[in-house]
Parts: sequence; structure tokens; C-alpha cells
Amino acid sequence: MAGVRLAARPVAPHGKLTAFDLENRILSPDECLSRCELEALQLARLRQTVARAYERVPHYRDCLRRHGVGPDDVRSLNDIARLPFTTKDDLRDNYPLGMLAVPRENLARVHGSSGTTGKPTFVAYTRTDLDTWARLCARFLTAGCLRPGHLVHIAFGYGLFTGGFGLHAGVEHVGAAIVPAASGNTPRQVTLLHDLGADVLICTPSYAVNIAEVAAAEGIEPSELPLKFAHFGGEPWTEDMRAQIEQAFGIVAFDNYGLSEIIGPGVSGECVYRCGMHIQEDHFLVECVDPDTLEPVAEGDYGELVFTTLTKEAMPILRYRTRDISRLDRSPCACGRTGVRMSRVVGRTDDMLIIRGVNVFPSQIEEALLRVEGTAPQYLIEVDRPGSLDEVTVRVEIRPQDFSDKMSQMQALRDRIDREIHSVTGVRVTVELVEPLTLERYAGKARRVIDRRVTRLQ
Ligand SMILES: [Zn+2]
Repeated sequence: MAGVRLAARPVAPHGKLTAFDLENRILSPDECLSRCELEALQLARLRQTVARAYERVPHYRDCLRRHGVGPDDVRSLNDIARLPFTTKDDLRDNYPLGMLAVPRENLARVHGSSGTTGKPTFVAYTRTDLDTWARLCARFLTAGCLRPGHLVHIAFGYGLFTGGFGLHAGVEHVGAAIVPAASGNTPRQVTLLHDLGADVLICTPSYAVNIAEVAAAEGIEPSELPLKFAHFGGEPWTEDMRAQIEQAFGIVAFDNYGLSEIIGPGVSGECVYRCGMHIQEDHFLVECVDPDTLEPVAEGDYGELVFTTLTKEAMPILRYRTRDISRLDRSPCACGRTGVRMSRVVGRTDDMLIIRGVNVFPSQIEEALLRVEGTAPQYLIEVDRPGSLDEVTVRVEIRPQDFSDKMSQMQALRDRIDREIHSVTGVRVTVELVEPLTLERYAGKARRVIDRRVTRLQ
């Protein structure tokens, strides 16, 4: 699998961001604990969490008993391996709020995730959980340049989704001002950004692209908006997409990661060195495992992230399988934070393809396509096994302005795509160029893969 480029130096003054803005500030000394101090704190909190889950959550009491483990069996952090995993299905089976560790009247908030299939799942917070969540969001926002005095435009949905309210509380904790624009009505977002002059944009990376396109269509050059930097999260994205967004707006873009089952945004985020997202390990115990064997992967290898909450009151979660593929970097970071850094999420275990023994993610194909000028990111990956070998065809839609009647030009474009895909994935594929607007469009999540090998097996 292609490596992640790591920045050796902090973000340089860039666009409208000055050296003063980029100064490394650390909100809490707990972000810089030595490994020894951190592990002692983690163990104490893990023991409390397992005891609470065992005593108060019937699902965990049953699971732990089935595994033959009691709260007293957790004597070192390595004993985490004896605990059962938690999956999205466990949350669905205990719908709507069967995994609470506190009485309902102690709740302060309920959030949920829609999921693309089936029932939503709900997560709950006590007042203390909400305070913790705000502090954790404030930590990564501070690591990424946010200061009192900034004006922050939040274009995340405010609702059951954790993005809007989570980041809102984090920005308030930092002491900055907020334009709670919420998502949707993109022309109005452009007007607000232009007229109110926010310094900071918070949303999903794909929505930032949308805002830039709509701004340009309305005659406003995105780079002329006063925005200085942005915090993006809520979906996987690539380094190339970051470069495109930074160039379009003339900003610095920081990455952050979270999921509602664990707390929402605030699980990890980038510092100004941008060499991975520091996981807030005093609140979350992380593992990186092989999704098939569930054993830890070798240090630095890609695997599925698994999190255990260490301080959640309302809904403690043991060993939650995120399905997100990433890798961990324990080398020291120049910012002084000691939290292990996770790479950007390169894919999900549920969309990983194994092609002739090589793990390939649709996001890698997308990354390769974005590197080749002249192709829109509309594509379809078809996998088949006509004989004994896997064959992959990638259909790529050409943008209208790049479409040419000259065979030689189209052939050159196809060869470049072929080379880029091979360089990113290590796999040879057949590239087919198709005319503009011929691939099917989807209102929600786009269907990017047709795996005929799977259909045949069923
Ligand atoms: Zn750092």
C-alpha cells in the first residue's frame, strides 16, 4: 500500500496565516504526559470503565461472562486483549438506548448516526460527558491554530449528527466566536463567508469543495474570501484533495477524526506539524488490528482502528471496531504532544478490495485520478475473475472540456491514468475512458465498485 507523506516541518506561514497564528499552543498538560504517566492513567481508567460496564450494562455483563473475564482480571493494559469487541450490530441489537450505564434521568443529550442501511443508532451523554467532549474538541482546534478572537463558520449539520454541536461546543470552549451556519443552502454559505468575513471554516472536506464551486459560479473568487484556515472531518479524504482545497481558498486545512460511538469529533486531530492526528489517549485507548485475525498488526502497519472509551459516563464502549483503516505512528512529534498519531483513514474494511492478493481501496483509485489533470472524479471500478486471476476495469469519465476527437490525446490520457493507478495501488488495471456525463449519478453515497466475484459467490 502507498505510504502516507509525512511533513517534517510545521505548516509555514501560508496565505493569510501568519507565524503568530501558527504558534504551537497546548491547551492541557494532559496532552503531553510521559508514556509512563499516560499508561498509569489509562490503566486506572480502563479498570473503572470495565467495572462500570460490568455492573451497569447487561450487554457487557453477559459478554464479559461469556469471555470468562471479570473487572478484577484487568491488571495491565495488555489485558485489553481479553475483553470482547463491540460492533455496530451490538448497538443495533440494543436499540434504542439499551447500553446506558446511567439512569435515563441523568442524560444531558442524545445523538445518533443515520447509517446508510437500517435503523439509526443512538449514543448518549451526561453533563460531564458533554463537558469532556467540548474540552477534547477545544484541544485539537487549539492545536490547529484556533484562538479567542477568531470568527468560526460552522457548516456541519446541527442535529442528531455529532459534527455541528460537538465542534460548536469546542469552539466556545476555546473562546472564539461562531457563525452557526449549519449545512445546506450553499449560496447563502458563500454570502455569510463573504459578508461576515469568518477566519475559520469547519465542515466536511467535500462540502468545502462544493462551497468553492458555488462561490466561483457566483463570481466570488474563493481565495478572496477572508478565510485563513479550516478544520475538516466527518469523512475520509486524500492529501491531493487537501492540496486542491488549500489552493482554491488560499488557506491551511487541518484534519480531524471522530465517530459518534466513541464520542463524536474530538477523538484525534492534527497539530501544526500535520504528520498524523494525535489521538487523545488519556480518554481513548486505541488498538490497530488485522480485520481478519483481530490480532494487533505490526508497529506502523495499516489495520483497523479499535477504540475503548476511558472516561465516558453515559455509554462506555469496550473495543469498538470502527471498520476504519489507518496506521499508528508512535515516534515523537515536535509539537510536544505525546498522543500517538493516526494516519488519515485510507479506507474501510467494508470497502476494501483484495486484488490478486493486494489490498486496494476505492479511495486510492480516486487519489490517482485526482493526480491526473483532465479527469473528473466520476469513476466506476469493476472487478471480475474470468479465469483464475482477478481483473479490474476502471471506467473514468472525461470532463467535457478535456474531451477530444483525437485518438492520440485520449490514448495519452489513458496511459497517464494507468501509470498513476499502478503507482498508488501497485496493481495493474484496465482503464476505459467514457464520455462526459455517462456514468450514473447518485444523490447520496455514490456507488463506486461493482465486484462481480462477490455476486458469483453468493
Ligand atoms: Zn504534534
